[in-house]
Amino acid sequence: MKYSVDKNGYYGRFGGAYVPEILQKNVEALEENYLKLINEPSFIEEFTCLLKDYVGRPSPLYLAKRLSEIIGAKVYLKREDLNHTGAHKINNTIGQILLAKRMGKTRIIAETGAGQHGVATATVCALMNMECIVYMGETDVNRQYLNVQKMRMLGATVVPVTSGNKTLKDATNEAIRDWCNNPTDTFYIIGSVVGPHPYPDMVTRFQSVISQEIKAQLIEKEGRDYPDYLIACVGGGSNAAGTFFYHLDDERVQLIEAEAAGLGVHTNETAATIQLGTEGVIHGSRTLLMQTEDGQIIEPYSISAGLDYPGIGPIHAHLAKTGRAQVFAITDDEAVKAAFELTELEGIIPALESAHALGALHKISFKPTDVVVLTVSGRGDKDMPTYLEYFEK
Ligand SMILES: *Cc1c(COP(=O)(O)O)cnc(C)c1O
Repeated sequence: MKYSVDKNGYYGRFGGAYVPEILQKNVEALEENYLKLINEPSFIEEFTCLLKDYVGRPSPLYLAKRLSEIIGAKVYLKREDLNHTGAHKINNTIGQILLAKRMGKTRIIAETGAGQHGVATATVCALMNMECIVYMGETDVNRQYLNVQKMRMLGATVVPVTSGNKTLKDATNEAIRDWCNNPTDTFYIIGSVVGPHPYPDMVTRFQSVISQEIKAQLIEKEGRDYPDYLIACVGGGSNAAGTFFYHLDDERVQLIEAEAAGLGVHTNETAATIQLGTEGVIHGSRTLLMQTEDGQIIEPYSISAGLDYPGIGPIHAHLAKTGRAQVFAITDDEAVKAAFELTELEGIIPALESAHALGALHKISFKPTDVVVLTVSGRGDKDMPTYLEYFEK
């Protein structure tokens, strides 16, 4: 498997586990246990059962007929927006909390930007009766009122972080600090395919249910188990990694990633990490990140809070640098336009993040017979204030 993680936790030259000494033991314990635990029949059974009865899986693979006519290919939508809590993130938080329980942990911590991962974590903590602390930049706490209230209602403690720019990067630093102070009883649930090994691989495996279902659903609908294109948006890259997983080594399938260009790749207001990033270490792994020449993180910008991260999962740095995946940077305007288009044509209001993947449809020249699968990572409820601003323009 050319694009899988190697035994040291690397994808090509990206990945690894760059953690403070105090966390080395934790990360090693996780490394030693995660594959064994998640492959145990009792784990698989509990995970599968919750995905089915609690999340509502399998999510439909929907042939979007009117959109297909406009795009000039057969476009299927993988409907992660229909999951409980409204996005793909719940697949991963269920996997990680089951793992935490099996490792005897009693306290859960998480970081969140827009609050989507925080809500998904608070949800599974309520379900499993576990203590939950969510670190969130103060700026985001003020911007994401509804998600903060949801987390509180679900029983989580939301800790506003006042260091740095008071956003996701700072919340992540604070979560890592907490983990250093509580290495024995605490499990850190990371929300994307980022962080030190084994997180990127572990999160990929929990999200790979998306890819597994796509394969089975394509056999039923198309009589073959692979599409010509797979398309997903990338923030940290978990819905994309989950979408690609079982087709990574199948070169018949073109992998397309949509990252956030913000106001444009060549403006200062952008989150196009893959196109602009240089190699460095962020939050425990070697990857591409937006940084100045002397290694200061450049604050990213995107209209979509879920894509607004200065790094990228190491698997995606590898897929992009080897040319396995093709990356498009989609601007705010292109994404919003694509969101309105999907709403008008199909009656589906997508999350702003997913709208970037939809925007990428317009950058590719398809053949009419091409089978395209695009993952709609989440629903647009949380983005209505932003959509309304455009509506009123
Ligand atoms: C968080 C989020 C993303 C970005 O995260 P990935 O790890 O890149 O998938 C994308 N879409 C939605 C709806 C999200 O909530």
